[in-house]
Amino acid sequence: MAQSSVLTPGTITAEEMKASMTHLQGELLAKYGDAQRPRISTGLHQVVEFWRPEEDGDITVFEGFVRSNFAGDQPSIDTLFHRFQRLLEQLDGHMHEITREFRNQQDLDLGPVRSYDEVFGGYDPAAHVLDDFFQNKLAFTVLLNFPLTTLEERINEGPKWTRRQWAETRLAQRFAKRVPADVNLAIAHAAAESAHYIAGYNIWMHHLVDDQGQRFFPPKMRLLSHWNLRDEIKADYADQQSGLVKQRTIQQVMERIITQTIPQLVVDNPHVDWNPWSNEVKQAAANDAPAPAPANLKVTSAPEPSTRYAMLLKTYRAARLADPYSPTAPSLIDRRFDEDREIPEERLQAVLEQVVSSPLVPQVAQLIQSRLGRPLEPFDIWYSGFRPGSKYTEAQLDEIVAKKYPNAEAYRADIPNLLKKLGFAPDRAQYIANHIIVDPARGSGHAMGAEMRSEKAHLRTRIEKTGMNYKGYNVAVHEMGHNVEQTLSLNDVDHTLLQGVPNTAFTEALAFVFQGQDMALLGLAQPDAQTEALKTLNDFWGTYEIGGVALVDMAVWHWMYDHPEATAEELRAATIDIAKDKWNRFYAPVFGKKDVVLLAVYSHMIDSFLYLPDYPIGHLIAFQIEEQVKKTGSIGPEFERLAKMGRITPDLWMEHATGKPVGAEALLTATEEALKQLGNRP
Ligand SMILES: [Zn+2]
Repeated sequence: MAQSSVLTPGTITAEEMKASMTHLQGELLAKYGDAQRPRISTGLHQVVEFWRPEEDGDITVFEGFVRSNFAGDQPSIDTLFHRFQRLLEQLDGHMHEITREFRNQQDLDLGPVRSYDEVFGGYDPAAHVLDDFFQNKLAFTVLLNFPLTTLEERINEGPKWTRRQWAETRLAQRFAKRVPADVNLAIAHAAAESAHYIAGYNIWMHHLVDDQGQRFFPPKMRLLSHWNLRDEIKADYADQQSGLVKQRTIQQVMERIITQTIPQLVVDNPHVDWNPWSNEVKQAAANDAPAPAPANLKVTSAPEPSTRYAMLLKTYRAARLADPYSPTAPSLIDRRFDEDREIPEERLQAVLEQVVSSPLVPQVAQLIQSRLGRPLEPFDIWYSGFRPGSKYTEAQLDEIVAKKYPNAEAYRADIPNLLKKLGFAPDRAQYIANHIIVDPARGSGHAMGAEMRSEKAHLRTRIEKTGMNYKGYNVAVHEMGHNVEQTLSLNDVDHTLLQGVPNTAFTEALAFVFQGQDMALLGLAQPDAQTEALKTLNDFWGTYEIGGVALVDMAVWHWMYDHPEATAEELRAATIDIAKDKWNRFYAPVFGKKDVVLLAVYSHMIDSFLYLPDYPIGHLIAFQIEEQVKKTGSIGPEFERLAKMGRITPDLWMEHATGKPVGAEALLTATEEALKQLGNRP
């Protein structure tokens, strides 16, 4: 390698760059005319914004690039647009094809998974594509010719854009960030470290004791925080004898995790007993450990030293490193709301507050209270008693399903028929079915769409040796909904750059529309109005709970951005304050108890980079879409209309779909109806 080159790259001054832009602007204007003025100006600024002289080249390279890649008339713009659209579809499609093949041994029921299968499964062939596209300057070609947009522009101008303008917007957006590899690596490290911390955070339940030394949980029960702890609270509603004491104990454990007063020693440790009320720790008096206690076990009740918040801080500090490289969304909060969700944070906040402060909350709470026969306690935010029973036993359903679908092929062959029952025209049902391949899954099942039109969607479904069971069938119907959406939103959308739906909440909502028809598709009676009403109340209460959790997550990220130098200890104190504040505003009036911290227990808050708001958005969108489909009476044609709108903003999509933007109205109206149905009208 040469010691130094003749040209010393990376030495362009800002003045030189500016001077170069000015004369390029003049040159291009003279060549293409005044009509191209705004495009020339925008394009040049966008290229300069991302150009790194030390990597991308000096002034001569920059000017040469601009001269040969600016498309100055409509035919050239058209050619450029169509070429990128076609080739990016090929790139995405084939990359996805490789990923799918590499994961097959892990995903499908194909026998043992070897160590190298896991490496194949974890490999992402597209990981360096974005870097490559800046390196070979294809990214700059897009940035020179198509404008980047802010969410505000997409929301305000988007309704007036043509479909082609939307496709161009999505094309430019692919290159809206140029995050250096070392920054991406730092983010991945922080994500992995915090995920590892969360994945090991188990509580050995048999070792929770009360003041009398009583144990209420069975031996060997090891629950992961927060998911398993929360699900145990839900399950304990069925335990007439000691359900309540178990629920209260779990709440106490959760609060100690949040406040970090939990003794460090009791985390994932079956060798000590812990009284979460007094916080006393002792050598375990009961043995259910898989291995003997370490000889040097030193029993102490020293608290966990705010590690939970140190982990969260690490994710924040890593995420912040990307800020300077993301000009149209310069914070993690912006990237989550403006890019991933495309719903402005302020608007979502208002919608969530509308749900959690709805006058329907106390009415539903009253109903829960009367069903429980006692005043509500804070853990009742996870009340699960609205889930109605089925007319059929699981065994009856298993038998019906196994007879109908003894193998994957039987289900595949029935897809056109199932789609016809859902109201799709016969030719459309056949067309869609031709785009779906059914594979036997190793796990419970999933849907894997294609990313290019020459590929097919894959429906992965679980088949037991005795045939499909009801659970597997129920999942298969849900996944088939995904596959139908994936097929239509790829093959029938006008521009492949608009392939898909606005975000995951939409594809989930569409899949739930299918799943809700599973009994009818078997020729059995659909759930009655009473059952539907219970399901609605269950969803409403779940949205009330997760809405508060999301509001805490959002406030904590704002606090971190406002206090960039904070310590873990300070973040702990702030999180507790925020959780109490949300509780006192939206939950205390219903539960009659103040200063509860439970809303901060979710593990996603620690390792998932502001992910929690996705859950309540999902509930709201699901309701809007389900109501819309119900209104039209026939699923098929409406489903086709919705799935073909593609990846525009959520509000615009929802307005085309239902006449209204994303919001809480559908959920609140349905809840009101459900309360009436159950005769609880005040
Ligand atoms: Zn799904």
